[in-house]
Amino acid sequence: MPYLPVAHRPQGEVLASAERRWRALAEAKPDLQAAVDLQRGLLTLVIDLARTIDGGRLPRLSLPAKYLAAKLSRGVPALSGEPIPLPAALLKPALVGFCAELAAGGAGDVASHIGTAIESDRIDAGSLLTACLARDQEAIRTGATHMGLAPDLAWLVAELAVGPVVHALQRTLFAIRSGEAGGPLAEALAAWNHGYCPACGSWPALAEVVDGHRLLRCAFCAATWERTIYACVYCDERGEAFVTAAPDEARTDRRTELCSSCGAYLKTIDTTEVSPFPLVAIADMETMDLDVAAMDHHYGRPPLREFRTGSRL
Ligand SMILES: [Zn+2]
Ligand SMILES: [Zn+2]
Repeated sequence: MPYLPVAHRPQGEVLASAERRWRALAEAKPDLQAAVDLQRGLLTLVIDLARTIDGGRLPRLSLPAKYLAAKLSRGVPALSGEPIPLPAALLKPALVGFCAELAAGGAGDVASHIGTAIESDRIDAGSLLTACLARDQEAIRTGATHMGLAPDLAWLVAELAVGPVVHALQRTLFAIRSGEAGGPLAEALAAWNHGYCPACGSWPALAEVVDGHRLLRCAFCAATWERTIYACVYCDERGEAFVTAAPDEARTDRRTELCSSCGAYLKTIDTTEVSPFPLVAIADMETMDLDVAAMDHHYGRPPLREFRTGSRL
């Protein structure tokens, strides 16, 4: 079953689980306290936004199952290239809120300048959100740089605001309704065997291994899928150039997949259950030492895969 639907969990439960993980992380690594506090502020806003969107603010999409199935079978993610009307009136204040949180959490003026540009419509919130959903990092980076704004932060706030929408779209689009069990979409999802997300096309943030299943977790929409091959998620290498190693020999539950063909790495951790949206970001922070170890050995993460749509700010 390559695409795996993850049960939706109530907001209170998600927040409680997040809090337990943040406390444990800050206790184990006191130097991460400030980063944990910032992430707590940001993800609390994300969870609030997700609740509003789930409560009826989700864009309507009429993409027939057969059409989606054909798209997936060509290796194209379901949402790629679709004109999706985002609730900009709801997301614009959210963008400004994320900027304020980042500014207070250490990014200072660099973040508040982006907030001001969005608030005053110097950056068009709708275009920013649409480019993010289209995974057009280049458009956002170029647009921000031209305005003298920090490109990585502009991308980050856009991802934080669009994340709850794309997560809800992913769940809704791929919900296999009882009448469609075994239908074309279910079959196409079961056959999805790529390293990138079947919903939005992003790379996984990491793999969560549950009961021996290497579940890839989308860094953007938190989709969960498993490949039938043990190969590099980025370039499909499965020969000697692809190895899995545990930087700390005493912690073999925390590993890194390293590929010398494409020079990229993926973190992989054993766990008892997958992280609900948006807690994949916490799993990412809990394993920052694995990023550092991989980058020390000159491994990196490739840019987003392109499924060109040509959006511009
Ligand atoms: Zn995704
Ligand atoms: Zn590779």
